Amino acid sequence: MSASPPALKAQSSAHGQIQSGLTDLYHRLLPNREGELADYIPELAKVPADQFGIAVATADGEVITAGDADAPFTIQSVSKALTLAMLLDLVGREATYQAVGVQPSGDPFNAITLDPRSNRPFNPMVNAGAIAVAGRLRETLGRTAFGQSLAKLSEAAGRELRVDENVFESERETGHRNRAIGHLLRAAEVFTVPVDEVLDVYFRQCSILVSATDLAVMGATLANIGRNPKTQREVFGLETVRETLSVMFTCGMYDGAGDWACRVGLPAKSGVGGGIMAVVNRQLGIGVFSPRLDAEGNSVRGKLCCVGLADELGLHAFEFTNPGSSFLRAIGGRG
Ligand code: GLN
Repeated sequence: MSASPPALKAQSSAHGQIQSGLTDLYHRLLPNREGELADYIPELAKVPADQFGIAVATADGEVITAGDADAPFTIQSVSKALTLAMLLDLVGREATYQAVGVQPSGDPFNAITLDPRSNRPFNPMVNAGAIAVAGRLRETLGRTAFGQSLAKLSEAAGRELRVDENVFESERETGHRNRAIGHLLRAAEVFTVPVDEVLDVYFRQCSILVSATDLAVMGATLANIGRNPKTQREVFGLETVRETLSVMFTCGMYDGAGDWACRVGLPAKSGVGGGIMAVVNRQLGIGVFSPRLDAEGNSVRGKLCCVGLADELGLHAFEFTNPGSSFLRAIGGRG
């Protein structure tokens, strides 16, 4: 048998190193039972609490996993990053920011509040902002808004996704806070279509079933500047990706966002289903699933797992080993 070329060898040893890092982290964090399941709807309180899956997808399409990486769960608020990207591509930056700001709020994700300076939601990563985005999608795309959102998320995951109808029904029946937010937004004329039609899009998008592997591939699509590395399909535009990652970096982990930026240093988005999607620009997507949540609504093991991966693989955006701008290096700047 002929020896592998050096580039292939390097690639497979990097793969092996990531695999053993993931397996170690999985075993180290598995005994952690801290946190509580989301219980605002009975459907989420029924989820087996011990599930734990980790997946990493590289920007050239390899997927490395540990644990329950293919277990299905509802995407919940991780969808907010992807519908923001969809709206940015559809209507552009200016029109998007007429509906929603990009300021971290410091309030819980389900706060019934607008930024008093603008009368718009603080950012698209809290419920008010995501409902504003859903409103603009409903206005722009009419009845096809949810179908197109599902198709877009499926393109980002590289496979056809579907809705958990039971979760959707429960969200719709019990979503009084979200309904209140919807009316607040309608009163502020953030959108002009009926509130129920908008909430239908929002509740359905939260109820899409994904796995940790799906979140990793979605993250890798963002890392790969909008092209799904598995299918090679263009899913999001270049500027949209930069914008979305910036908002994820500053606002993606709710009122834990500042702590996350220092400790992990990666753009990320969490959901109360227990998922976290994180992105290493141009290199990796990370998907973690573990349903027990901390007080901010972020997965406890998911968070610890991202801290571990960032430390182990040197992923923090401001890591001293990060070589900075390749443009400046190319024109002879320091690097
Ligand atoms: N469906 C949830 C809600 O609207 C999503 C929130 C979340 O994942 N943080 O309250």
